[in-house]
Amino acid sequence: MKRLPRISARPGLLALLLAAWAWLPASAAEVHRLLLAESWPPNYPIFGEAIQNLTESVRRMSGGRLIITSHARNKHKAPLGIFDMVKAGQYDIGHSASYYWKGKVPNTLYFTTMPFGMTTPEQYAWFYHGGGMELMNRVYQPHGLLSFPGGNTGNQMGGWFQKEINGLDDLKGLKMRIPGFAGEVLAKLGAKPTNIAAGELYSALERGTIDALEWVGPSLDLRMGFHRIAPYYYTGWHEPAAELQFLVNQRSWERLPEDLQEILRVAMRAAAFEIYVHTYHASAVNWATMKQDYPQIKVRTFPPVVMDALREANAGLLRERAAADPLAREIIESQAAYLAKARAWTDISDLAYLNSQHR
Ligand code: CA
Repeated sequence: MKRLPRISARPGLLALLLAAWAWLPASAAEVHRLLLAESWPPNYPIFGEAIQNLTESVRRMSGGRLIITSHARNKHKAPLGIFDMVKAGQYDIGHSASYYWKGKVPNTLYFTTMPFGMTTPEQYAWFYHGGGMELMNRVYQPHGLLSFPGGNTGNQMGGWFQKEINGLDDLKGLKMRIPGFAGEVLAKLGAKPTNIAAGELYSALERGTIDALEWVGPSLDLRMGFHRIAPYYYTGWHEPAAELQFLVNQRSWERLPEDLQEILRVAMRAAAFEIYVHTYHASAVNWATMKQDYPQIKVRTFPPVVMDALREANAGLLRERAAADPLAREIIESQAAYLAKARAWTDISDLAYLNSQHR
């Protein structure tokens, strides 16, 4: 038998070793594992689905080098504690809403949505091209956190009420679940706002702990069953563009190699888009179902006297905030300037188009 020359055996062995190395999944040391906490109940439609899709797509895009495990509220039991858990490093990422942290860091509230503020396309343009991301990260950076837009619900409904709101007296003492700046605006008019996590909303309204609540809109409200216990469904004023949030612990982020950071960044942006589109679709489908199957729902719009008072209280509170804190002032002025610029375009594009359809 002819022996192979020694010189050709070595590259053969090397090639074999290299092939085996490439064939192996990324070695254990190279797999990065991140833990994500959601504010939502387990298997929550739209929001939870987008997170499941994100974990799967990150795994595939990274060839198994980035594995994200997601915990819904039943695991961590702190749906409104995401900020603290991600800041402490107990979780690497959170999926929640920035305005939930207003009691802790007041300037976080501007990055979800503002009453009488920007619509979803306007606000996304502000985040990505109008300085919104930079301002948001200035608020979160001192806490060792990065914040990214986490999906928009679009314009939200004004909520479910046990009693009709005919005037300002009907708001006095009204106990309503309504987070963010809108809650503070309502408080100015004598209401008693509170924030309650999604999982406890139905029982709070059913037991009369609260008289009214807002959650999202037909996309998610129908499944929550609020229409069975409150007859009035109001159109919105308070959350024209509710943006969810990805919070990332900065140390966890910095531990990731650059390519995995980029995969995560792009996956979060894709999840945000997915939530926006999915919510719009679910709203359209569920609105049709509600109109057909639950004709007893009374859809209302707040009367002009209430809207005027809300608008005035909102403007007054914004002035107070701007006077009290330089960074708040910068954010409020940035949003107002961008709104003015973008709205002129919205009016001559979408609004003009919609008006022409209704003639
Ligand atoms: Ca809401």
